[in-house]
Amino acid sequence: MVQRVQLEAHLATLLAVDRFKDYGPNGLQVEGRDEVQTLVSGVTASRALIDAAIEARADALLVHHGLFWRGQDGRLVGWLRERVARLLAHGMNLFAYHLPLDAHAELGNNAQLGLRLGLLADARFGEQDLGFIGAADAALDAAALAERVGQRLQRAPVLLAGDGRPLRRIAWCTGGAQGYFEAAIAAGADAFITGEISEPQAHIARETGVAFLACGHHATERYGAPAVGEHLAQQFGLEHRFIEIGNPA
Ligand SMILES: [Zn+2]
Repeated sequence: MVQRVQLEAHLATLLAVDRFKDYGPNGLQVEGRDEVQTLVSGVTASRALIDAAIEARADALLVHHGLFWRGQDGRLVGWLRERVARLLAHGMNLFAYHLPLDAHAELGNNAQLGLRLGLLADARFGEQDLGFIGAADAALDAAALAERVGQRLQRAPVLLAGDGRPLRRIAWCTGGAQGYFEAAIAAGADAFITGEISEPQAHIARETGVAFLACGHHATERYGAPAVGEHLAQQFGLEHRFIEIGNPA
């Protein structure tokens, strides 16, 4: 059992929340009951995840994608009202951590994706040092890397193979980080792994020879929240469960 305020303070320190400029508020987004014993983690505070957390009698929900983003008009209507109403009706706390959860050196999305893919960062790159880069752990080309990603994430990536060079340095950044491709190239990457692809990356891959792999926004970002949840379970003796709500994007 832990007090909500203690949990929030612990997470703020653990994830170095103050270090990041972000697109939405990091920390407690919806205030629920004062004490937390049961914690559910998940990727996105969707209605399906909130309903599953209610079913699991969670006192708190910990997610990567919360409810509030810059550019929203701020009205609690429609689908957003439905999400907030469920949380409030059940006294459930919602904790959301976006960039701080991507970046954490051991528990974050990038670090945890690296573990799944056999990649260890020895440097960072890009805006706010969010990108990870390290040496390939074996002799690989882009096709072999894509096959490994497909096996480990259970989802075949979109592959732009580059010029077929052996991959010495591999860079990665989870989610919608396709805009980091050029920064990855400047940092010396032979291949860049992220969640999504937009139109320009295909051309950049062809023209620079650096491979680009779009491995799924959801698929690359489902490992950080449960890692933090497990950490909290151990730290405070909580019951914790990660609930996967599949997403093809
Ligand atoms: Zn994301």
